[in-house]
Amino acid sequence: MKEKIWLSSPHLTGEEQKYVKEAFDTNWVAPLGPNVNGFEQEICNYTGTKHCSVLVSGTAAIHLGLLLLDVKQDDQVICSSFTFSASVNPICYLKAIPILIDSEKDTFNMCPKLLEIAIKNSIAKGKKPKAIIIVHLYGMPSKMDEIIGISKKYSIPVLEDAAEAIGSTYKGKAMGTMTEIGIYSFNGNKIITTSGGGALVSNNKEFIKKAIFLATQARDNAPHYQHSHIGYNYRMSNIVAGIGRGQLEVLNDRVKARRSNFEYYKKRLSSIKEITFTDEPKEFYSNRWLTTILTGSYKIREKIRLTLEKENIEARPLWKPMHLQPIFKKYPSYINGTSEDLFNRGLCLPSGSNLSNIDLQRVVDCIKKSF
Ligand SMILES: *Cc1c(COP(=O)(O)O)cnc(C)c1O
Repeated sequence: MKEKIWLSSPHLTGEEQKYVKEAFDTNWVAPLGPNVNGFEQEICNYTGTKHCSVLVSGTAAIHLGLLLLDVKQDDQVICSSFTFSASVNPICYLKAIPILIDSEKDTFNMCPKLLEIAIKNSIAKGKKPKAIIIVHLYGMPSKMDEIIGISKKYSIPVLEDAAEAIGSTYKGKAMGTMTEIGIYSFNGNKIITTSGGGALVSNNKEFIKKAIFLATQARDNAPHYQHSHIGYNYRMSNIVAGIGRGQLEVLNDRVKARRSNFEYYKKRLSSIKEITFTDEPKEFYSNRWLTTILTGSYKIREKIRLTLEKENIEARPLWKPMHLQPIFKKYPSYINGTSEDLFNRGLCLPSGSNLSNIDLQRVVDCIKKSF
């Protein structure tokens, strides 16, 4: 069996261990300490946002983000349908109601037209949605001008799920920083990893203060343990934050490598007429977390995927939309067919920043062989 080529595997530098060792040497083995503070400051510096709280996961960050936006039972929360389930699950933790919105074709992200229709419809029925979660899928920025315009017009706050999009920008601004709240993920498969982890960012100081309060069991200011809120144990460990500090130092290199994977595939495969690549609209800059291709049909996609699988190469269909998921299909949705089509015809190719040219060549040869 040939060596496995992964879709997106962790890519460490070794420098992470300097920060981890420091934590051990100074006995900061706790969910607070110099690496936690340092990592937060460095995320702020990198993204150009004012405040940050690092947490155990991106999912925890979305959960806290919705609490900060005062989402409660039976509130409506609008969310992209074309995403990973972790974008929607926290809405359900709060017993709120997800309203799922389909994609537009240029970026695969939330369609602004359907977003506005959904808002108008909810308002007409007497209930304004409490928040909007937009997702920058595979690192591609959403159509921010349109979405922020709608958010302002109807005064509904936006949470940017930038779990896949740290290092991406829109008109020069970092994803996650253009609305009320942004979140990042440092899970093992993301562009930089801490094994598991996440962050919540905002320019609103009170939000971050409250996020840290809620993430550390909501302790009131008293010498004994006193609580007047339900709390969570969501703070990132100082060990894990050390890995993050090392990883953030090389994020720009990781973006470069992933973008160069995209160019490599595009150059060698776009002559095949059954395969198309999605270019960035002007002033959209994607970290190209995963390179995605669209094939001519479900049958062709499966043929390519299975040929790769036989060669021990991991490739996956694009996300299955939430409105088609057994657990979420009962919720209201606004659908134009785009995400279902992307799910049927799309494929994510191996995209790690640690892939060699030999690996990439193997993937390309195998795809060509499947025709
Ligand atoms: C990975 C991911 C998350 C969840 O982040 P975790 O750190 O794994 O909890 C949320 N949304 C999207 C779009 C993701 O890809």
